[in-house]
Amino acid sequence: MSVAIWCIATLIILGALLYHRASLRTFTLGAILMLAIGTFTGLFAWVPWVIAAVILLPFNLPFIRKNILAKRILTVYRKIMPEMSQTERDALEAGTVWWDGEIFRGTPNWKKMHSIPAPKLTAEEQSFLDNQCDEVCAMLDDWKATHELADMPENVWQYLKDEKFFAMIIKKEYGGLEFSAYAQSRILQKLAGHSTILASTVGVPNSLGPGELLQHYGTKEQQDYYLPRLANGQEIPCFALTSPEAGSDAGSIPDTGVVCKGEWEGKEVLGLRLNFNKRYITLAPVATVVGLAFKMQDPDGLIGDTKDIGITCALLPRDIEGMTIGRRHLPLNVPFHNGPIQGKDVFIPMDFIIGGQAMAGKGWRMLMECLSVGRVITLPSNSAGGAKSLALVTGAYSRIRRQFKLPIGKMEGVEEAMARIGGNAYLMDAVTKFSTTGLDLGEKPSVISAISKYHMTEKLRQVMNDAMDVHGGKGICLGPNNYLGRGYQGTPVAITVEGANILTRSLMIYGQGAIRCHPFVLEEMDAAATEGKEGLNRFDKALFGHIGFVFSNFVRSLWFGFGGSRFVAAPATDSTAKYYRLMTRFSSNLAFMSDVAMGVLGGELKRRERISARLGDMLSYLFIGSAILKRFEDDGRPAEDLPLMHWAMQDTLRKLQESQLEMLENFGTVGSLLKGLMYPFGRVVKAPSDKLGHKISRILMEPNAARTRLGEGQFLSPKGPFGYLEEVLVDIIAVEPLHAKVEKAAGERLSFTRLHEVGIRGKELGVLTDEEVELFKRAEEGRLRVINVDDFAPEDLLAGPAAHEWGRNNA
Ligand SMILES: Cc1cc2nc3c(=O)[nH]c(=O)nc-3n(C[C@H](O)[C@H](O)[C@H](O)COP(=O)(O)OP(=O)(O)OC[C@H]3O[C@@H](n4cnc5c(N)ncnc54)[C@H](O)[C@@H]3O)c2cc1C
Repeated sequence: MSVAIWCIATLIILGALLYHRASLRTFTLGAILMLAIGTFTGLFAWVPWVIAAVILLPFNLPFIRKNILAKRILTVYRKIMPEMSQTERDALEAGTVWWDGEIFRGTPNWKKMHSIPAPKLTAEEQSFLDNQCDEVCAMLDDWKATHELADMPENVWQYLKDEKFFAMIIKKEYGGLEFSAYAQSRILQKLAGHSTILASTVGVPNSLGPGELLQHYGTKEQQDYYLPRLANGQEIPCFALTSPEAGSDAGSIPDTGVVCKGEWEGKEVLGLRLNFNKRYITLAPVATVVGLAFKMQDPDGLIGDTKDIGITCALLPRDIEGMTIGRRHLPLNVPFHNGPIQGKDVFIPMDFIIGGQAMAGKGWRMLMECLSVGRVITLPSNSAGGAKSLALVTGAYSRIRRQFKLPIGKMEGVEEAMARIGGNAYLMDAVTKFSTTGLDLGEKPSVISAISKYHMTEKLRQVMNDAMDVHGGKGICLGPNNYLGRGYQGTPVAITVEGANILTRSLMIYGQGAIRCHPFVLEEMDAAATEGKEGLNRFDKALFGHIGFVFSNFVRSLWFGFGGSRFVAAPATDSTAKYYRLMTRFSSNLAFMSDVAMGVLGGELKRRERISARLGDMLSYLFIGSAILKRFEDDGRPAEDLPLMHWAMQDTLRKLQESQLEMLENFGTVGSLLKGLMYPFGRVVKAPSDKLGHKISRILMEPNAARTRLGEGQFLSPKGPFGYLEEVLVDIIAVEPLHAKVEKAAGERLSFTRLHEVGIRGKELGVLTDEEVELFKRAEEGRLRVINVDDFAPEDLLAGPAAHEWGRNNA
């Protein structure tokens, strides 16, 4: 054996050990074995042994490793670690790590993912979705609510209260529905597909707010009093955190609650004097109970030595003295109730604090914990529901609407938009299914909640824009027959609330993900914050585990770059196998790039938002890809869904790849070097093909199993604003071959308009029956209803004072 062969064999064996994450001891034994082989075969004597000893001994001798290496590194680490405020720390530590941890660590266990149970509705939940949800959708005329009333009509409000739509999260013992997260998600999807005002109004009380906070942190008295009243709709809640000076930076609210004595119900009691100015508060104008976040202070030391106690949450009844509430904001013509609340010297007793005095100062932590649940459900589900309904309605419209003698959906340019609509709707449903499954398993996945919120609302924006483009003027002219415009107008609301999207992408996803999902970083930080021997012991263990992790991911990334991912184990042998393999490759890449970014930039990474955003994108697309594969598996791998699944996976993987390349291209010399190692042969994933886009477009344009599954659970009844499109679609498809028959009999091309006349002509030519003539008539009526838009008398568009004046003048 020559030295060169020995070197190559050693590299392969040690590389394989690192690739498979062998322990330090196994790795050392592997090195000794190779040295022994080298010596026994006479290749070398002692020099390589000395080199190996110098490198490996310090790591293998705990005394040296801990007391010399780890100790010194710990001293430097403590100096360079960025300062972290308590609110940042609370946000970081809130919630749990679930599948996000698995994909961050470079070696996702796909079998583990497949063993996660598929979500299911109980009989009660299914019945609620089929009955109560359909009923309320049929009751609500969205145009009337958004244009005329600027509110939902009273009977809809009452129905929502009576049927406990606001109590989906409240436990049965308090009279609530206690639905699973998955059921809540399906319900919101259906409502959002019908009306944004409806979905927003129902979504908020079931998300972060008094109900959720009371169930987790309320005292027994608070729970017994409020929860039954919230469950039966006697109380309408809102939660007020945002103030004019503190939006995204909500931890900096200037609102205060000062501990003092005051009078309550005729007695002098210890309490808080509140001064606050809040805005953008959903449901505030109609709320009967206000959850309020403020900074609690005790300057006179009435309850202890701490002067600045911190963010605290309390519940205020609407009619409390000193509070101004009732005025409304107008959020983009989707007038769900939203408005400001002010309070001047409002006195509340201590037991108004959620959880009582014991929870004083713990408000931020409470909010962050609850946010990691609510944010997984409400906005992602509303977005997915919107996208699913848009996919069906746009597919139907593009088959019914013709230009240049063709259904517009058959034109290649339109196909491109339709592919995005269909593929994204499939993907979004997959994400909500997977992430709410996590909640139902007891997780509070804070990183996944940020991923779902950001990506689902952005994808809805994309789907909405595409749907508008395909509909042309039909989407633009508002009126009772426009089923798109209000949803389009309201899309930025979801982008802005619960963590505005730019901030969520740039700061939150990776900021939290890097620390929570990484197997060693949080432990290193905690160890560094722990004094004495225990701190050093923990730091030593975490640090050297971390170093092994970095080397392993380096080797894996290098191997995948040069060797590709075809030898990676995949839990499938069909066309999905390549996706599992690529996901494993990209997961190792993320783990490696993440450590490189942290190593090179250190605390500066917090300010390098564009780097952080791209690392967050990688984590997000790995989660989204997992959700797509899981959905396909849970659905029983239906062949009809393959185009949708392929498009969703290819688009996701391509975006993942682009985020990696963009990061490397913006990471100086280190980035260029890594790009050469990780992408030596250039890009490995292509964008979804035109052929795939064409197949999706066809799926959306006619009834079939894949289309039915795509729109599953949505309100498509003819009683709804666009359910009739489904009926017209069936008629138009039935008319198409008959139309061709009439053309053939007539010996000329006939326009696909005035279908009732074509029907009569067919009858005269003896090629159509009476029923078929009837079908032509019905199809024409439906076709015109679909393509026509509303117009108004000028005075019908007057609003506010102008409308009052017109009314007075014309009374
Ligand atoms: C319709 C509606 C309903 C709402 N409902 C409620 C409610 O019920 N209760 C409640 O308390 N609040 C509510 N909010 C408030 C909502 O959560 C805030 O609007 C949101 O936190 C953003 O604050 P802001 O609008 O002041 O934007 P700003 O904080 O001024 O942000 C402006 C832009 O700067 C970006 N940005 C800010 N900081 C950073 C950063 N560090 N890095 C990168 N980008 C950054 C943001 O992403 C955003 O794009 C609601 C808001 C709206 C519009």
